[in-house]
Amino acid sequence: MYEEISKILKKENLTKDDLMFLLSADDKAVQLIFDKAAEVKTQYVGNYTYFRGLIELSNICSKNCLYCGIRSGNKNVQRYSATDEEALKAVKYALDRNWGSVVIQAGERQDPKFIDRLENLLKQISSISPEKTGVTLSLGEQNLEVYTRWLNAGATRYLIRIETSNEDLFYKIHPRDELHNFEKRIQALRDLRKAGYMTGTGVMIGLPFQTMEDLADDLLFMQEYDIDMCGMGPYIEHEDTPLYQYKDQLLPLEERYKLTLKMIALLRILMKDVNIASVTALQAVNPDGREEGIRYGANVIMPNITPVKYHESYNLYKGKPEIVPETDKYISQLEKQINESGDKVGYEERGDPIHFKNRKK
Ligand code: SAM
Ligand code: SF4
Repeated sequence: MYEEISKILKKENLTKDDLMFLLSADDKAVQLIFDKAAEVKTQYVGNYTYFRGLIELSNICSKNCLYCGIRSGNKNVQRYSATDEEALKAVKYALDRNWGSVVIQAGERQDPKFIDRLENLLKQISSISPEKTGVTLSLGEQNLEVYTRWLNAGATRYLIRIETSNEDLFYKIHPRDELHNFEKRIQALRDLRKAGYMTGTGVMIGLPFQTMEDLADDLLFMQEYDIDMCGMGPYIEHEDTPLYQYKDQLLPLEERYKLTLKMIALLRILMKDVNIASVTALQAVNPDGREEGIRYGANVIMPNITPVKYHESYNLYKGKPEIVPETDKYISQLEKQINESGDKVGYEERGDPIHFKNRKK
């Protein structure tokens, strides 16, 4: 296995078979992949980790994805919407610490009240932020006009996960109706690019019914759509969701975690200069999960700066880490670990994806 992996890693272009083989690397051989990803990261994006302050603005969602703890059908959730004041305070927290970017994430809503409110909030954020501050949105599917309004109001990046590139699997993890449509999800990526955003996507890893072939296809999908950013993480079951019934068919959580690290490393090798987030779901499995992701190719961490009183209600999956520790003391500790992993924190920089800049040239 060792020789075969070394041989594949020397190739210019990786095929689906190559990726499937690499995804099946055992614990010993996987180090070769991790070493290669670290080398590519150093060469193409440098040893920097960028902090993005994550604001979970609201858990009100019109959708009913079968895996998600805040799906509209879950009546055990206390719904909230943080106020503009609270959101701006969180933005200020990030700015005061010289983080170059914030991320606004929420359940999906397409009603005019929400769209107007977001536009207004983005304008307020722009008015208190230096020009170079990056604002990423993760607010689900909207139309081109809405994307453009939010871009003009100050957003620069948009992250929308396709969740899986396999259409059959997509309909096993979503209701089959107007609101949950595979083609529309992919169209969103095209519209975001057209509107002018730095565009990101991602998938969940270790979903029920998902195969190694699906994951290899996911990587090739991201390459084909020439994405600028990626946030992918392990699927973690939530007991108040329909998908929970398949919990006994899942890979052990530790395996889903390892597969996620492999996917991060392989995407770095495949797409070289994109931004890759080391997501909170990794931390939910292993307290040092986000730092591990950074060592194996990721270059973005999103410390959660949502007001603490809302944390419990933004429960996407079981065992979401207690986020209270994202205090100054905790952030210093995180920075220390990032430094130990060989990276510096990119303060006062937006840390835009080099891939996006290179495409513009
Ligand atoms: N509502 C927006 C959307 O769906 O694009 C943004 C917020 S949504 C909570 C962000 C991401 O959470 C989803 O794209 C999904 O991949 C992830 N997520 C939801 N439930 C999850 C679970 N049980 N395990 C892991 N990730 C999950
Ligand atoms: Fe809503 Fe996003 Fe959760 Fe789907 S994944 S139910 S759109 S918050």
